[in-house]
Amino acid sequence: ASRVQVSSKVKSPWYSASPFSSSVPTVKLFIDGKFVESKSDKWIDIHNPATNEVIGRVPQATKAEMDAAIVSCKRAFPAWADTSILSRQQVLLRYQQLIKENLKEIAKLITLEQGKTLADAEGDVFRGLQVVEHACSVTSLMMGETMPSITKDMDLYSYRLPLGVCAGIAPFNFPAMIPLWMFPMAMVCGNTFLMKPSERVPGATMLLAKLLQDSGAPDGTLNIIHGQHEAVNFICDHPDIKAISFVGSNQAGEYIFERGSRHGKRVQANMGAKNHGVVMPDANKENTLNQLVGAAFGAAGQRCMALSTAVLVGEAKKWLPELVERAKNLRVNAGDQPGADLGPLITPQAKERVCNLIDSGTKEGASILLDGRKIKVKGYENGNFVGPTIISNVKPNMTCYKEEIFGPVLVVLETETLDEAIQIVNNNPYGNGTAIFTTNGATARKYAHLVDVGQVGVNVPIPVPLPMFSFTGSRSSFRGDTNFYGKQGIQFYTQLKTITSQWKEEDATLSSPAVVMPT
Ligand code: NAD
Repeated sequence: ASRVQVSSKVKSPWYSASPFSSSVPTVKLFIDGKFVESKSDKWIDIHNPATNEVIGRVPQATKAEMDAAIVSCKRAFPAWADTSILSRQQVLLRYQQLIKENLKEIAKLITLEQGKTLADAEGDVFRGLQVVEHACSVTSLMMGETMPSITKDMDLYSYRLPLGVCAGIAPFNFPAMIPLWMFPMAMVCGNTFLMKPSERVPGATMLLAKLLQDSGAPDGTLNIIHGQHEAVNFICDHPDIKAISFVGSNQAGEYIFERGSRHGKRVQANMGAKNHGVVMPDANKENTLNQLVGAAFGAAGQRCMALSTAVLVGEAKKWLPELVERAKNLRVNAGDQPGADLGPLITPQAKERVCNLIDSGTKEGASILLDGRKIKVKGYENGNFVGPTIISNVKPNMTCYKEEIFGPVLVVLETETLDEAIQIVNNNPYGNGTAIFTTNGATARKYAHLVDVGQVGVNVPIPVPLPMFSFTGSRSSFRGDTNFYGKQGIQFYTQLKTITSQWKEEDATLSSPAVVMPT
């Protein structure tokens, strides 16, 4: 398969000129191996966040379309589950190659719809690609267990088998990486998959579906529907869906976890965060300040692993002015402009929410050391830009501390000791990620052991585990018991069948019925 061309006019088989009155392109559904125009009368506008121009429309799939997608997934399942694991692995091997070849095109779509810088969008694809690469080791990952001779002539062994139809519901902030946490892992295990991308950024998922088809995935193994609440409810309720992978906000995640579980499904839900970076006075100052600024403001803070809260311990509080200087130097611009460090927020509503949370800091007694609320970006005056913002003198009872801001805002707390810092982090309900900056191994070890957070960085600001491990956010950042990707991901998308087998020599047949439990 050849390279897929994407222009900013988004003309492609999955993103087509509208049959309706305007010339705005429409996003298609992907059903049974075909990119099809929805018959829906409900459409959602997709905006370029740097300009707020409408660049496309995405349908809210009709009930009939969603049913057709499930019928297709269900029909494709038996043959796909029976396809040899080596053949499924070959599809994924071709897929990783096609993603590499089209990485820049996928990234352009991400920047257009989501706003992040092109370089960061390439990182978005790259981190998803690593999951696809890892899924290629399915031949080892799906092995069951064996135990010979558990009693005379009897052996015990287990198979790891697919579940059936699985579904995924994705957020807007990683349009490629997060869908790639889901369908490649599920499909390589032999499941078929119904994907619902974020209605704000469907383009990357559509291109990824095209590349998967070009890699040889049979029709029906991946279906894509679009929409919001109705599509989500459909997924939670449909009896043919066995498992749901969700990533997004707590509001949606808790709802989906409860509704999906009530209908007997496995659900894994990665949700919101408030990630603390604890800065010890013995840390390497230069590295720490650069890492803090990068991790707080990169992607305009729209990362679930953004380091959005700094806890400066002891003398480290003296570094605040330098932190502000570094943040001031970041360049805010449209994501496709050369040199941009951070782009716009996803919507005007997101910008308003972030600005309101900054306002709340002022009202509740915090100090705004750097204020990005009034930033104007030349040539992009209608974009949803907020510049890097630093709020100091923040206390744990303030709204700007309690809420996930999800914007380019760093809130700063100060403590005298490491123990106080640990207490703050552990009292926060979220447990997604955290980092400590120190040159003292004993301090790092103490922090890593006492902090109640699922992903800990030691001098690493955004400790997202590589895909041979799993994404292990905890407490309010996660619902479910089996995490995304890595061994846990394989476990989530498979079930065990255990076989107890006896083959006796002919002359050793039972002489009477065995009515007692064997001892
Ligand atoms: P969101 O919850 O608004 O949307 C996620 C998905 O859920 C979308 O597909 C959307 O259509 C659907 N949805 C939205 N509201 C819903 C509702 N009320 N009921 C049912 N479905 C609903 O999230 P978002 O704004 O797209 O993403 C940002 C959030 O995602 C942040 O909270 C961020 O921390 C979180 N996130 C978490 C991780 C993680 O791994 N922990 C990764 C990325 C993003």
